[in-house]
Amino acid sequence: MAEFAVDTIRALIRDIPDFPEPGIVFKDITPLLGDAEGLVATVDAMAAPWTELGVEAVVGIEARGFILGAPPARALGAGFVPMRKAGKLPAATASATYGLEYGVDTIEMHLDAIRPGARTLVIDDVLATGGTAAAAAALVNDVGGDLLGFGFLIELCFLNGRQKIDQHRIEAVLAVEG
Ligand code: AMP
Repeated sequence: MAEFAVDTIRALIRDIPDFPEPGIVFKDITPLLGDAEGLVATVDAMAAPWTELGVEAVVGIEARGFILGAPPARALGAGFVPMRKAGKLPAATASATYGLEYGVDTIEMHLDAIRPGARTLVIDDVLATGGTAAAAAALVNDVGGDLLGFGFLIELCFLNGRQKIDQHRIEAVLAVEG
């Protein structure tokens, strides 16, 4: 992707210290989403590594993965599948519980959300410790999808989250070193 687009994206992400807990520097992407040029650059950057790969399903992890996942799904000619916090999805689900950079959480997806063998991409905003992504990989596997890889807007490299999903392709628009 063009370097100027990465610079545009980087400049529109805001660090919020001590949110939601002391010691966490929260990557706030709302200024990026709210900027017309930034939104286009973001959608293009998230989709770019995955063109020509025949992606059939894009899974977005609640909640920022919904925003960052659905437009690339449209661009890639794929369907969009929400992966949600526990208790939100109405039909039969598969679920996985995992540790976060802050706390513990459970994510779920509909058992019939992905056609067996469908070429699947998982999208989220931030790769931190990798617990969420590893749980997402397990869920895609549980429901029979063929996981092509992960697309993140931001990788917090110092947390080594990619170690938890290193059998898969990982693409991040921005790498944050420390
Ligand atoms: P993890 O499971 O530790 O990789 O955490 C990833 C999930 O937590 C993503 O869905 C992010 O939205 C969120 N997250 C973790 N750390 C941060 C952070 N520093 N800033 C913003 N979101 C974060």
